[in-house]
Amino acid sequence: MGRRIDAKKCKIRFITGSQHLYGEETLKQVAANSRAVVEMLNGSGEIPQQIVWQPTVTTQAEVTAAIIAANSDPECAGVICWMHTFSPAKMWINGLKLLQKPMLHLNTQANRDIPWSTIDMDFMNLNQAAHGDREFGFICTRLGIARKVVNGHCGDPLVRSRIAAWVRAATAWLDSQTMRIARFGDNMREVAVTEGNKVSAQIAFGYAVDGYGVGDLAEVVREVADTEVDELVREYRDLYTIPDRSDAAMASIRTAARQEIGIRRFLEEGNYSGFTDTFEDLHGFDQLPGLAAQRLMADGYGFGAEGDWKTAALLHSLKVMACGLPGGVSFMEDYTYHFEPGRGRVLGSHMLEVCPSIAAAKPTLEVHPLGIGGKSDPARLVFGTKPGPALNASMIELDGHFRLVVNEVEVVAPDEDLPKLPVARTVWIPKPDLAEGARRWIEAGGAHHSVHAPALTPEHLRDFARIAGVELIEIR
Ligand code: MN
Repeated sequence: MGRRIDAKKCKIRFITGSQHLYGEETLKQVAANSRAVVEMLNGSGEIPQQIVWQPTVTTQAEVTAAIIAANSDPECAGVICWMHTFSPAKMWINGLKLLQKPMLHLNTQANRDIPWSTIDMDFMNLNQAAHGDREFGFICTRLGIARKVVNGHCGDPLVRSRIAAWVRAATAWLDSQTMRIARFGDNMREVAVTEGNKVSAQIAFGYAVDGYGVGDLAEVVREVADTEVDELVREYRDLYTIPDRSDAAMASIRTAARQEIGIRRFLEEGNYSGFTDTFEDLHGFDQLPGLAAQRLMADGYGFGAEGDWKTAALLHSLKVMACGLPGGVSFMEDYTYHFEPGRGRVLGSHMLEVCPSIAAAKPTLEVHPLGIGGKSDPARLVFGTKPGPALNASMIELDGHFRLVVNEVEVVAPDEDLPKLPVARTVWIPKPDLAEGARRWIEAGGAHHSVHAPALTPEHLRDFARIAGVELIEIR
């Protein structure tokens, strides 16, 4: 995926708990086994970040030191804890009270099978995560620590996929702590759901939202050199089918290229991970920057139309979570319904701003009137999408807290071609069906804007919500 998220490298610390009751030989074996588990996970190629083995902790002082070290490591996205033997949990209390990183509690065992014919008490004492992890689980629950618990042998692909989902969520969470969103112009007038308290959001999620006059951006766009525009338009010609190459169409595409270069420059210089704009506030712009929003999303930037900074931030977080996975992640809006009995579905789109990471085939680059905003005809990428599972996610702010609404959906092919619809679009069936899925989404207060993510599963969002401590409503 794009250049904005390629660099999101971080680490997961793997902490094994034991005690001194069993002697040095047992502790040596514990260390060797936990190293082997870490190697199995890292060697699988399925965990998107490196897991770093830590020396076994056997005392309260060692536990506390290991947790303080994790907290103060800016590259540490989370900790995985495993009690290879029994590790009496009172020694964990003081350290766990300090824990500020996401935790996955891995309830595993070095051996997959019980060696029935040779098992003795030495083996039993060495391999007792079955009850050691229960002692650890008790104290985490007693302390109210949110964590993901995964049970199983690390040779099992399902176990690794559950760990990988959490690592992705933890990576997005670490990224969120330093994320910045640039907001060009304010909110679309009169719209409620896109408003919100940016201070509350920073307290809850770590990210900052900075407002700018759209004229500040227009100035950067104006200063883009013609040679840079020429070069980007050549890139467009290589990447996309351009059916209308008339002077008027190419002039509009050049304007869009200039906007893309200017917005990208503004975001890079301010170290922003996403942005919002609104068609009601385009002072100094010739057209709504739709193509720029599409292509910046494809590079990993968050985007929210009509000033929707919560969706811009959520979109970037989901881009980070999905990094390297097939399927894409896009800004989306439930647009219009198909109510044929038994075949209810939603056509999702936006005025322009749908991310080409979800395109089924090479997009076409087209110029058409927009119908609102009173500006020139904007360029946009037009495409359809691939059938398959996906999810829609919406972060809303209620009085005093945030709520994440997630609906599993099935993307399907449109019944017919859509020759007169000049925007990127997709069609999905919400789960469990349109009537129930839409009812529950609306009752939960889910927004009309969402992040549409064929690349992710509800497990990613569940892990993210747990880490963030945010209310989750899952519709499936
Ligand atoms: Mn909208």
